[in-house]
Amino acid sequence: MLGLRHYRGTAVDLFQGDITSFVCDAMVNAANTSLRGGGGVDGAIHRAGGPSILEECERIGGCETGQAVATTAGRLPAKKVIHTVGPIWRGGHEREAERLQSCYQSSLHLAAASNLLHVAIPSISTGIYGYPVAEAAKVAMQTIRSFCDDRPQALRRITMVLFDSETYKAYQKALFACFPEAEGDET
Ligand code: ADP
Repeated sequence: MLGLRHYRGTAVDLFQGDITSFVCDAMVNAANTSLRGGGGVDGAIHRAGGPSILEECERIGGCETGQAVATTAGRLPAKKVIHTVGPIWRGGHEREAERLQSCYQSSLHLAAASNLLHVAIPSISTGIYGYPVAEAAKVAMQTIRSFCDDRPQALRRITMVLFDSETYKAYQKALFACFPEAEGDET
């Protein structure tokens, strides 16, 4: 398979397609602070999952940038949706990388704490929020690697689900740069 690494007991892989039809335990949503739904992947997740997701989001009331909260997954092929709020890209001088890193960290810790062992994540912040995809892919992969260092075997599989081929290629490059071990290697 193109784009698979095994690292410290967790498989890290890439899939090109629509996250709303991807079977997993925790489906991560690139939400906004209001948690009221929006465009891009957020809109797609709410449309496919149905109104129970929004109802729970409204009860929670909101989420800060870099944080993550879990709700029901409604009709989606997942046990839970984890909503995380990525930073809006403002040129790179407003701690965007740190806040994007926090999104991945919070989402992965929340999944592990809830025993959701297969996590699917879209490319947070690189759509409407304008984060340059090559930079965002590096942050994603470095954060996934440090999570696996800190919490070996806490998750079984982390899949980055990328919508288009340009985004897929950027994450593939970052995956190989961050996990240079040969495919299938267990380190
Ligand atoms: P943000 O507001 O965090 O930038 P977007 O939803 O606008 O979030 O974009 C984030 C990424 O999600 C982009 O790469 C976009 O192409 C992708 N995306 C949009 N719809 C889907 C989907 N159904 N499944 C997976 N990725 C999607």
